Amino acid sequence: MSTITNNTAGTQTTAGAVSQGRATARGQNDARPPVLAVVVPCFDEEEVVRSTAARLAALRERLIAAAKIDAASFVYFVDDGSRDGTWAAVEELHRADASIKGLKLARNVGMQNALLAGLLGVLGHADCAVTIDADLQQDERAIETFLDRYASGVHVVCGVRRSRSTDSWLKRMTASFFYNLMNLMGAKITKHHAEYRLLSSKALAALAEYRESNLFLRGIVADLGLRTENVAFDVRPREAGTTKHSPRKMIGLALDGITSFSVVPLRLVTAAGALIFLFSCVMMLIYLYQKYEGETLPGWAGTTIPIYFLGGVQIMFLGLVGEYVGKIYKEVKARPRYIRDEELF
Ligand code: UDP
Ligand code: MG
Repeated sequence: MSTITNNTAGTQTTAGAVSQGRATARGQNDARPPVLAVVVPCFDEEEVVRSTAARLAALRERLIAAAKIDAASFVYFVDDGSRDGTWAAVEELHRADASIKGLKLARNVGMQNALLAGLLGVLGHADCAVTIDADLQQDERAIETFLDRYASGVHVVCGVRRSRSTDSWLKRMTASFFYNLMNLMGAKITKHHAEYRLLSSKALAALAEYRESNLFLRGIVADLGLRTENVAFDVRPREAGTTKHSPRKMIGLALDGITSFSVVPLRLVTAAGALIFLFSCVMMLIYLYQKYEGETLPGWAGTTIPIYFLGGVQIMFLGLVGEYVGKIYKEVKARPRYIRDEELF
């Protein structure tokens, strides 16, 4: 009996393994408050990172005082290859307050991969993790409600925007179009839910099982199938700096979201091909009938328009198939999704 215990203790050599053992042993129904990790992806966020850290530290104090979280709870900044002084600021914050920790990625890998690096970085060190933007556009006070849901046994708590009034008309339109398209295409994602959510340690461990390099977190979180609930929160305008999501990045994310979660576009290609084939059969019949009747043949327009039409359709669909082939190419190479450069823990 004692040898078994010794063995178990022997394997738990690193700090991570120790707290992982603790985190799993504690479970969600334990009376002791959970260790919370707040994961914050940062790309060129020098202007906001200090005030964000101050706000999150204040929230941490409040939640510890209210016995909602354990004193070992911490904030985890993930520097996604910033070109400005973001990492220097994180180092400075860490020196002043040990509950502020950080991970520096070797280069910019995009928000999705930065979030994944953060979530897998805190796996084993926390009972639950909340992801939030560095500009704190999401109301951080909703975290308290997230924790209440977590305490009641929910593994995934999704923050859902109450309104989109801070977004431009164009962003609102495109976002709404994107959600509807995604759901139509078969990837069930929650509307108005960005990357503001709580994941339990069980959800984090499940997330670690997804090894695809075309990562779309929103889709994967819905795919886990663990108990999920939504919590509404208010969105604020960005305090300083500009958006780090260019239209190019947004289009890339939308394409990734659809093509990494659905093969419906490929089926549409097949269906469209079949339809066009049927259409051409009917055309042929009409042509034969006209020839039999001795009527004049259709002229120039009847010949050239279909050529351009079909040419366009073919090239478009070829591009779509290419999108999937490109995905397969990336998966086959199985390159790391991010490289960890430095960690402050
Ligand atoms: N972000 C990142 N890597 C990127 C782009 C953005 O880590 O390549 C982070 C950014 O620092 C912020 C969050 O993702 O914490 C959301 O970005 P932003 O607020 O600029 O986007 P928006 O709110 O305008 O969609
Ligand atoms: Mg923002």
